[in-house]
Amino acid sequence: MKLLFEESSQGRHLDLIPDCDTPEYRLSDDALRKRQARLPELSEVDLSRHYTQLAKQTHGVNDGFYPLGSCTMKYNPRIDEEMAGLEGFADIHPLQGQDSVQGSLEVIYRTKELLCEITGMDDMTLQPAAGAHGEYTGLLLIRKYHLDRGDTERVNIIVPDSAHGTNPASATMAGFKVINVPSNAEGGVDLDELRKVVGKDTAGLMLTNPNTLGLFDPNILEITKIIHEVGGLCYYDGANLNAIMGRVRPGDMGFDCIHLNLHKTFATPHGGGGPGSGPVGCKEFLRDYLPGKMTGKNENGYYLYTPAKTMGQVRSFYGNFLVVVKALTYILTLGKEGVKEASGKAVLNANYMKERLRKYYDVAYDTTCMHEFVLCLERLKKEKGVSAMDVAKASLDYGIHPPTMYFPLIVHEALMFEPTETESKEVIDEAVDVYVEIYEKAQSDPEYLHSAPHHCPITRPNETEAARNPILKYEWQD
Ligand SMILES: *Cc1c(COP(=O)(O)O)cnc(C)c1O
Repeated sequence: MKLLFEESSQGRHLDLIPDCDTPEYRLSDDALRKRQARLPELSEVDLSRHYTQLAKQTHGVNDGFYPLGSCTMKYNPRIDEEMAGLEGFADIHPLQGQDSVQGSLEVIYRTKELLCEITGMDDMTLQPAAGAHGEYTGLLLIRKYHLDRGDTERVNIIVPDSAHGTNPASATMAGFKVINVPSNAEGGVDLDELRKVVGKDTAGLMLTNPNTLGLFDPNILEITKIIHEVGGLCYYDGANLNAIMGRVRPGDMGFDCIHLNLHKTFATPHGGGGPGSGPVGCKEFLRDYLPGKMTGKNENGYYLYTPAKTMGQVRSFYGNFLVVVKALTYILTLGKEGVKEASGKAVLNANYMKERLRKYYDVAYDTTCMHEFVLCLERLKKEKGVSAMDVAKASLDYGIHPPTMYFPLIVHEALMFEPTETESKEVIDEAVDVYVEIYEKAQSDPEYLHSAPHHCPITRPNETEAARNPILKYEWQD
């Protein structure tokens, strides 16, 4: 497919940019371009076709099954987008007077209240822009808490070896030292190993439950107790909340602070580079450290305030507000029972898919899973030379987005599936049939799979190069 620059033809144009309606301001000469910006010149129809063609080459939830584990790629109802598009939400300015945005402050306040109820927290900031940003904010909360009490010895954050990569990264960014704890044979935290590493230097623990293997740790109360007994705090990575919302709450599992991914669980699509939101919730004793501004409510209405010992701001203004509008719409549309039903179906779908697939592929931890599960293709690799990558790439030919590959790191040749609650039994059955067909192909013609996909616009890009050295800029030849 040609780039817009290659399609460009001098003199052709479209008038999308309106005439300037403010007085012109002339920059000083040294700030001006030496030559005209060389923008591609196209007609509107060429431009429209270009992007439509591009859109056809990609794969989204609206195109088909998207079981990308740990990402919760579910269908997000259109009504959520519609609400976020309302003028009263979309066209306001963050510096507008509080009196004129009472409705928006109410959205922030009510979303916070509902998310606190769902998670068992006492207060919450909606400022962080992503999960990892929430982790960083939560760790600063923990840091502030210890330092405020004059406890300067606590430099370690304990992270299980099954953790999402952002956990150790955030802990390092927040100035902590990361201590790894291994998993036990069941895929949970090894309690004996945990006891060995805790002490006066423990600032806290970061954990997601269900973990990235899709398993709920049955020792969770013991785990948080071990940390609390040495004076540490427990941080809950809530990116996997889709499995438990409406059923069990991190606050009741013993966690002191948490983040959520609104762009996974609560109606904003994940991935694609759009805005996200990683609210951070905490128990009462941490609320004074939360980043400002927070939204409060009194007899005169809603107002903004800065918490007493705030860590400061972690992002401009109030976070990605329209993502919050979508989350509130989603929760109110589902209602209390609907939220519970969603997590129930997410878990049911994952277990159904796992049970059908395990007759062909090995399941990494062969027990009841939560909203996702991990296959281990080590045996297939050894016997037939077919890797997790080969199987994932082959599924593209069938219009299925690949599952998460080679993660979590503790499972070799891992494929991690998360079918989500919005898929029907028929869709899951069709997907399983595809994976069975690929399995049979692996037995009869492994070579074919090494070069899959065979019917996609691109086959096997160099993934490292594509991630590390993306070509984002067009170089004119002359
Ligand atoms: C997605 C995810 C994160 C990070 O969230 P981002 O919004 O991508 O920064 C953290 N932990 C887990 C378990 C996740 O799945």
